[in-house]
Amino acid sequence: MKSNHSITLILTAAVLAVTALEGLAANKEVVNVSASPHVKFRTIGLDEARWTGGFWGERWEQDCRVTIPTMKQVMELSTNSATFYNLHVAAGEIQGKFFGNDWGDGDCYKWIEAAASVYALNHDPELDRQMDEIIAVIAKAQAPDGYISTQIQLTDKGRWTNLNHHELYNMGHLLTAACIHHRVTGKNNFLNVARKLADYLCTVFEPLPKELAHFCFNPSNIMGVAELYRTTGDKKYLRLAEIFVTMRGSQPDGSDQQQAKVPLREEMEAVGHAVTAAYLWCGAADVYAETGEQSLFDALERLWNDVTSCKMYITGGTAALHHGESQRVRLKRWPFDSVHEAFGAPYQLPNRTGYNETCANIANAMWNWRMLVLTGEAKYADVMERVFYNSMLSAIGLEGKDYFYSNPLRRCGEDVPLLNNDSLARWPNTTPASPVHCFCCPPNLARTIAQLHTYAYGVSVGAVWIHLYGAGRLDTQLTGGDSIQLTQTTDYPWDGKISIRIGKAPAKEMALRLRIPGWVEQPMLKINGQVAGEKLQPASYAEIRRGWKAGDVVELQLPMPVILMESHPLVEENRNQVAVMRGPLVYCLEDKDLPQGVAIENVRIERDAKWQVRREANLLHGVTVLETQARAVSQTKDANALYRRVPTAKAHSILLRLIPYYAWCNRGVSEMTVWLPAL
Ligand SMILES: [Zn+2]
Repeated sequence: MKSNHSITLILTAAVLAVTALEGLAANKEVVNVSASPHVKFRTIGLDEARWTGGFWGERWEQDCRVTIPTMKQVMELSTNSATFYNLHVAAGEIQGKFFGNDWGDGDCYKWIEAAASVYALNHDPELDRQMDEIIAVIAKAQAPDGYISTQIQLTDKGRWTNLNHHELYNMGHLLTAACIHHRVTGKNNFLNVARKLADYLCTVFEPLPKELAHFCFNPSNIMGVAELYRTTGDKKYLRLAEIFVTMRGSQPDGSDQQQAKVPLREEMEAVGHAVTAAYLWCGAADVYAETGEQSLFDALERLWNDVTSCKMYITGGTAALHHGESQRVRLKRWPFDSVHEAFGAPYQLPNRTGYNETCANIANAMWNWRMLVLTGEAKYADVMERVFYNSMLSAIGLEGKDYFYSNPLRRCGEDVPLLNNDSLARWPNTTPASPVHCFCCPPNLARTIAQLHTYAYGVSVGAVWIHLYGAGRLDTQLTGGDSIQLTQTTDYPWDGKISIRIGKAPAKEMALRLRIPGWVEQPMLKINGQVAGEKLQPASYAEIRRGWKAGDVVELQLPMPVILMESHPLVEENRNQVAVMRGPLVYCLEDKDLPQGVAIENVRIERDAKWQVRREANLLHGVTVLETQARAVSQTKDANALYRRVPTAKAHSILLRLIPYYAWCNRGVSEMTVWLPAL
């Protein structure tokens, strides 16, 4: 009897474990706000939607097949600037010295996050094995008290001696990756490391040590502990997230470089490093989602208005400066702080030296995603989409294995000096980055592309939200448990026609909230072939509330004419210049597309030009090009003079072909411009 009773207990435990796993299976979000009180919708799990081909489907597949595996290979080399090698040394598995950048561990964890994210859909056992293998090494590398950061453990630098050592950046990415790994696999091996680390951090930071107030140089740790709170339900981690937000700027020695001069709740202006800023704001948005503290939200809204009204490129990039100073306008505190990889002054948006680190662009999208989750306002989705199609995608080559660190809007000839970490061509993944090269951006791209389908949808009581369009399928449950399944068929972003077919629908009424992008004019909606009366306001969500049945089809038509854009006149560099957009895509001129003998700087575009929109299936993996008759002014004899007379010779006509900005520099080193002088 006794043994039978034990077996029953074991079986009950096993059933409970399976039930727990099944419970987890429904919670594979990247940012899990399903229990957060101050959000407008919940995000969806990594396995609740998938691209089914099309623009993003091809990129998701490439991420699985090419980007993630080749990145792992190069990150295993001891000579890459972000390398798993350091973790093996710290684990005592091999003898060696620390190599690479201080923030390399964090970039390794980002790779695990990318792998876990694709594993949610492809269930590749080899990927699962690789993750377990490296997680075992990480667990061994972790100090007995929970600390882990190999640039400190393997050197004589000492813990918490210099904020530039990036300890919390590394740790933050560990926490996030561990949460996603746990959600996707149901395993606790990485989560246990994360809890031990976060418990250690609580002991260090809960006493609010003044000398460590600004230690989160690049605060991925706030998002990390917030997500750990959501994973475990342990409130001490949320408290720690709040502490990190509050400590920054609380001491007089803070610099604008990492947003530590002014406490976030009082901040009026976006200043300093564009990645650290957006990571801070992401973390604060995560805290707000749980606490609803109005002063945090107000600060985030002020900062968003500042960024989008005068500090963001048309591509969604935000880091105007490679090196410079934080020129505060509203809050004058002399002297200005020296900053790098940073926001510029208002309207200071240079094109050739526009830095736009890939991580800053991605961080801008992550922040806007969170603002969208908090508010349900489409203006945030517009920025997110702007980044994804332009300044994020420009950072990865069409083959999925070479990367830009910076994403300028103008590239001149090879004799014009480059900025640090910038390069004439994307640097390849197949050979190690040089020790000075920073490897933070490649795994950031890998994880974001792996997760992009979860940015596309949201679910709330009685409503499904579609934020991003692309061929794909959503299969989820509404709050309350009703199943909803729908399929998007579209050639977006090349074509604005989107067909949404309902597969499964709840018995009661449900609202479909479709994002109407801010760039669109005269959108049209049909339901089962009939023009619908719903109001379609650009930069808002069109709500279609009705009883649905399987087979219902909603067609959204977003016209995509070629649009000439100009800047606010205070963006001095862009005076009398235009940029060309079609749908969400920013276009550019690459010198490869110019007739022989015409230099890129001699091209003039006519404001009333007639455009041909043409699909080129064999160009740049298939793009839609824009063509028009433009003018080329003659090269003057004194073309190298700094100042010269305006030429009097008449401009001649040329056929101008523009390609999407994201696809530039895929045909060898080139010159490129987004902004073109207009006649
Ligand atoms: Zn980066």
